Amino acid sequence: MAVLVLAELDNGILSPATARIVAAAAQLGPVDLLVPGPHAAAEAAAGIAGIAKVMVSDTDLLAESLVALVSTLAVRYRYLVSSASTLGKDVMPRLAGTLDIQPVTDIVAIEGENRFTRPIYAGNALETVIDNQARHVLTFRASAFRPAASGNAAPIETIDSPTASAARFIAAHRSESDVPDLATAQIVVGGGVAVGSTEGFQLIEKLGKTLGAAIGATRAAVDAGFAPNDWQIGQTGKIIAPDLYIAIGISGALQHLAGIQGARKIIAINADAEAPLVKIADLALIGDLFEIVPQLTAELERLGVKR
Ligand SMILES: Cc1cc2nc3c(=O)[nH]c(=O)nc-3n(C[C@H](O)[C@H](O)[C@H](O)COP(=O)(O)OP(=O)(O)OC[C@H]3O[C@@H](n4cnc5c(N)ncnc54)[C@H](O)[C@@H]3O)c2cc1C
Repeated sequence: MAVLVLAELDNGILSPATARIVAAAAQLGPVDLLVPGPHAAAEAAAGIAGIAKVMVSDTDLLAESLVALVSTLAVRYRYLVSSASTLGKDVMPRLAGTLDIQPVTDIVAIEGENRFTRPIYAGNALETVIDNQARHVLTFRASAFRPAASGNAAPIETIDSPTASAARFIAAHRSESDVPDLATAQIVVGGGVAVGSTEGFQLIEKLGKTLGAAIGATRAAVDAGFAPNDWQIGQTGKIIAPDLYIAIGISGALQHLAGIQGARKIIAINADAEAPLVKIADLALIGDLFEIVPQLTAELERLGVKR
């Protein structure tokens, strides 16, 4: 019951999400990994435990090209898997359409060889899906799974990529950042509209830097122009599953909670002891964020807590 996993790359570098998808997919059978990128990324991937073989193809990352490539390999596999990321959302529905398969998306748990759990209603309910098709096209939420260990030395095979599209990849432009990726970070510090300004968010960023955390925000904070769009956490933002989420000046609207259900521990800093996020937090600091956050950062720095 072989599994083909499409690796997740970030600017040509293997994303940490790949090790999480491999760990999940290994529950279904031996995993071959397809790396659509440079050989260096394939070499990094070969170290992930649970991979039987890495196939590398220096294709462009256009969905049309990837679908053509995966389609040529599909016949050998019972499961075709990717992360439920932007890449996965682009490629896997096209692949499923090409192969005439109903995909099962956003899986957060594997219950059996054809039973999968996925969130519905913005994460307010979980449904279990039985997929009786002979072949399965699946996307997994990387944040729902622990990463596979390293130490493997899987063989690497170079494969040709069919040219499928008249479209050409020209360039990707991205904002440079030295903070961890929100979707895979172990610690996330999030700020709400109460932070009040971009300058206010510097307090959040300073605390985040001390903890080696990724920075997130509510939609209200993003809409107010205090934080960039790609920091938004929630139903219409990013889904996070860190070990620790520190929510600062965030009320805990349902749409925000939809993005943080995978957080293992939550600390809320809020002026309102009755805020919904305070109610679900493991620990709450009730008071003014503009007093608490600088004190907390200074205390962590004094104690030498630095990641
Ligand atoms: C279709 C749809 C999709 C949406 N998607 C998302 C989404 O993906 N993500 C998302 O986050 N939201 C989303 N929203 C918006 C959501 O409904 C809330 O409006 C938003 O999450 C509220 O953000 P907030 O917690 O920053 O603001 P508020 O709800 O205004 O809460 C501010 C909090 O800060 C506290 N506070 C105020 N001053 C201080 C202080 N000085 N110190 C400490 N605490 C203080 C208050 O007690 C309060 O709890 C969506 C809404 C809709 C309709």
